[in-house]
Amino acid sequence: MSGLDPSLAFRAAPAPAAEAASNGMEPLLGGALREQAVWVDEAVCIGCRYCAHVACNTFVVEPNYGRSRVIRQDGDSTERIQEAIDTCPVDCIHWVGFEDLDDLRRQREGQDLLPLGLPNAVRPKRTLPRP
Ligand code: SF4
Repeated sequence: MSGLDPSLAFRAAPAPAAEAASNGMEPLLGGALREQAVWVDEAVCIGCRYCAHVACNTFVVEPNYGRSRVIRQDGDSTERIQEAIDTCPVDCIHWVGFEDLDDLRRQREGQDLLPLGLPNAVRPKRTLPRP
């Protein structure tokens, strides 16, 4: 048994605070790959699946509403995602700031989207302007 006083552990200086709030540049968020996140304005998406075929590690068609959604930010190269964006017939895939993702998710959750394919469905307005 050493002569160290166990209570020293409680008097030690705290570890330096972790980096402040996320800034979107963390590798986990794709920051190592690019400075912007990709986002689908699901209110405008027509569910054609082009983007999901081009960048299948980034986009999936959400099963309940039949609209494309980004499932991860580091799944495909920037060039492949841009190709997916270019294939979108209604221009509803956007490059956005990582810091905007939380707001956009909240807006999406507040939207009253109808599943695609329903007759007489009323299409909500765009969240972001057409690029
Ligand atoms: S290409 Fe555009 S419209 Fe088609 S599924 Fe993807 S986001 Fe939706």
